[in-house]
Amino acid sequence: MFIFDAHLDLAMNAMEWNRDLSWAVKDIRAKEEGMTDKPDRGKNTVSFDEMRKGNIGICMATQIARFVKRDSQLPGWNSPHQAWAQTQGQLAWYRAMEAIGEMTQITNKEELNRHLDFWNSSTKNKKPIGYILSLEGADSIVTIDQLEKSHDQGLRAIGPAHYGPGTYAHGTNSIGGIGYKGKELLKEIARLNIILDTTHLCDESFWETMKAYQGPLWASHNNCRALVNHNRQFSDEQIIELIKRDAVIGIALDAWMMVPNWVRGKSTPEAMGVTLEIMVDHIDHICQLAGNTLHVGIGTDLDGGFGKEQSPADIDTIADLQKLPDLLHKRGYNNEDIENIMHANFIRFLRNTWS
Ligand SMILES: [Zn+2]
Repeated sequence: MFIFDAHLDLAMNAMEWNRDLSWAVKDIRAKEEGMTDKPDRGKNTVSFDEMRKGNIGICMATQIARFVKRDSQLPGWNSPHQAWAQTQGQLAWYRAMEAIGEMTQITNKEELNRHLDFWNSSTKNKKPIGYILSLEGADSIVTIDQLEKSHDQGLRAIGPAHYGPGTYAHGTNSIGGIGYKGKELLKEIARLNIILDTTHLCDESFWETMKAYQGPLWASHNNCRALVNHNRQFSDEQIIELIKRDAVIGIALDAWMMVPNWVRGKSTPEAMGVTLEIMVDHIDHICQLAGNTLHVGIGTDLDGGFGKEQSPADIDTIADLQKLPDLLHKRGYNNEDIENIMHANFIRFLRNTWS
């Protein structure tokens, strides 16, 4: 079944992990053998070939670069200008992948429809993977007028915050609202018809955003607080608000967000019982709140700073997402429901936003 993945940090892997995603997953793992600079070395799950094997024909692909103030303990760039330059380097990598036919950028409805027709009818064995550019954390936008430049580059979704306090909003593990700058950013996001990604907004910033912003919004990779009680996940109240706003919520596969009491670097997916069944629990929770299957999708975040050591035990590569339709079927979902979840909800959302 065709899969839309609403969150992959592909360029971050290329530019910060030095991974050539046109290699096979096993070759990237072999190259990283013995490396200790990052906890997920040799445990990657994403490559272009594995995406093709898993029929993941479209993804939201991120630009991501955090700016941190001098006294911050978080890793990040020391100026927003450096963060901007980093995102531009990431864009240059996406362009380079387009040039060799690994990827193709989607920026509007015509391109979306054309890509879907091509993907579903072509028998070529190296089909370019469709990607839609999104920005995770807006700190790299130095001045608000820069957002139009990003829009010209194809940026179609943006999350105002990531971890910690940001320039435009407070993110995961921080407390605070969106302030004047955040409101100005939201106005510009609405004017440009960019999709607002509510993922990572802390509670106060989330609710202020709901009041200040009336444009299209979704949550690309966000799980349920009812199942894992931490501010990174959304409460039922937040999920219900998103459903009212006709949002789609992508469920992520970062193990600590799937089950409670995960201890980074110590817990293992096997010991904690983290499998794709747990993803189905989060999917099902949102469907039960909505009373339908129209508001949930897939936003894996695979290789988003973690690898096999912190992904479901039944995921060796991203191609294993194809195990999901069967699991959903066993949970009582019919074919139309499963199509909604695997791709149709996000695609419908984009068509509505871009019409
Ligand atoms: Zn994230």
